[in-house]
Amino acid sequence: MLFSQMYLPTLREKPAEAEVISHQLMMRAGMIRKLSSGVYSFLPLGVRSLRKMETIIREEMNRAGAQEVILPALQPAELWQESGRWEKYGRELFRLKDRHDHDYCLGPTHEEVITDLIRHEIRSYRQLPVNLYQIQTKFRDEIRPRFGLMRGREFGMKDGYSFDADESGAEDSYRQMFAAYTRIFERCGLKFKSVEADSGAIGGSFSHEFMVLAETGEDAILACPRCSYAANLERAVSAWQAAFDPGEGLRPRQKVPTPGHKTVEEVTRFLAIGPDRLVKTLLYQTPAGPTAILVRGDQEVNETKVLRVLGIDELALAEDALVERITGAPVGFAGAVGLSIPVWADETLKTLKNFVMGANEADHHLVDLNWEVDVPEPRWADLRQVKGGEPCPRCGTPLDTFRGIEVGHVFKLGDKYSRAMKAAYLDAQGQERLMIMGCYGIGVGRTVAAAIEQNHDGDGIVWPLALAPFQVIITPTEVESASETFRTARSLYDRFRAAGIEVLLDDRDERPGIKFKDADLIGIPLRVTVGPKGLKENIVELRPRADKTVQRVPVEQCLESVQAFIAREMEAKAQL
Ligand code: ATP
Ligand code: MG
Repeated sequence: MLFSQMYLPTLREKPAEAEVISHQLMMRAGMIRKLSSGVYSFLPLGVRSLRKMETIIREEMNRAGAQEVILPALQPAELWQESGRWEKYGRELFRLKDRHDHDYCLGPTHEEVITDLIRHEIRSYRQLPVNLYQIQTKFRDEIRPRFGLMRGREFGMKDGYSFDADESGAEDSYRQMFAAYTRIFERCGLKFKSVEADSGAIGGSFSHEFMVLAETGEDAILACPRCSYAANLERAVSAWQAAFDPGEGLRPRQKVPTPGHKTVEEVTRFLAIGPDRLVKTLLYQTPAGPTAILVRGDQEVNETKVLRVLGIDELALAEDALVERITGAPVGFAGAVGLSIPVWADETLKTLKNFVMGANEADHHLVDLNWEVDVPEPRWADLRQVKGGEPCPRCGTPLDTFRGIEVGHVFKLGDKYSRAMKAAYLDAQGQERLMIMGCYGIGVGRTVAAAIEQNHDGDGIVWPLALAPFQVIITPTEVESASETFRTARSLYDRFRAAGIEVLLDDRDERPGIKFKDADLIGIPLRVTVGPKGLKENIVELRPRADKTVQRVPVEQCLESVQAFIAREMEAKAQL
């Protein structure tokens, strides 16, 4: 492609609304433009990277035995009513009506549509398993669309769905998709981790997120540096246990005045105790009514764990007025003694003795409390947030923390949709059985953006070769068509193209400095600079974008060197 003919509007300045680097650089490199909140146009350079991502996904999905389909984005409400998600999906679902006043939505995901397709076609165990995928635009009215392609309201997703006859088949499908995802992100040249994710009511480790490691990631990850344990913070567990003195005697409880002291810091300072002696009582509003959750003063509640343990899908801290009604005291003095609502406590509190809690009375706390003696046994569960440095649940090594961008998600659905929508088949004995499903998603644009978060410097994008819109850019410093410089550049360009190299020739009549800046901004992995000075010695310069080291090679060897560079880059990624 000739630069002069490419629609490639680069920007000098960073756009004001772009908070994260990938968004800034995709705007500046002329890859995307915003139409409205969370809705973007892709310009030619952006399309090239996007298509590369899609090709990698397609090749690996096909290799793993999945087959491509294209399902409608416009979906009738009836299907969503059948699965129960017309209500449940809430305001993230884009809803609309047709001219006959029938309800529709724009698909945020396709479990309903695919289950409907399959239930009408598959009758026998002989037709299973089936694994279908598509690469398609999704619509979600996100509360906070932000970070450019990272969280859009209209975005490209690869979504796949497997249907198996039984659990073990579904687990095989899951493992195949897990392996395919691993290959996809390796081929993209990304540093990523597959982490155990929260799988709601399903349990087990049949939900993994693929996280591209980046400081700007919205997700926190805990991972063991020694063994393979890695989990989203929402789900992470550790082998940490509270230290306690088995010989410590139980003291009698007392109520003490703590005037105006409400926070953990205030109360512990006032009572001259460590936060490990204080039990925080947090009141939550849930669909099943108010519930108290207890954790130690120096620990935090993990709300995702609470949702799973309580088997609910919404949760919010109780409003002050409700706290006052339940405890009979202002906020800051809640405690589990005498509460008439369900009480759940983090299981690491079990060994705690002589602890402190709010007295459910203004300006008072209870000290030297003990389970059973003073506080009725709560229901125990793992409800706390694990912190970095705590021992790995598998091998005891201190866990590291990372930030990550969720680019993919594999999930065993079980019979959630096949039950609700009656996707059944006849087994070998003629018995009707429900199909067991899995679903598998990859955010296409989000992955491309995540690649930039991970690969950039002060001058612009540093594309991993696999996702680069072009592999090589040739930059002649003169562009008069008769000049030796331009003729050499042009002939290299023709030879590269004939060899199947994706190459951009910067034939614009611009100063070399401007061309170099643009080449760095758009991040093409290798620049070949052709100039009259080098040509005097029959030399052109190769400059990889990543390390910027200049290699001088004779014109005749240029193609060979470029091919060697590409082969090296590809191989390095394959070995990651
Ligand atoms: P998140 O927790 O980030 O909202 P999710 O759990 O809603 O993600 P899934 O429903 O599992 O995401 O979607 C599959 C993939 O689609 C995600 O792994 C992510 O890469 C991508 N994705 C999800 N929401 C968006 C969005 N608003 N914009 C761009 N990509 C998205
Ligand atoms: Mg979401």
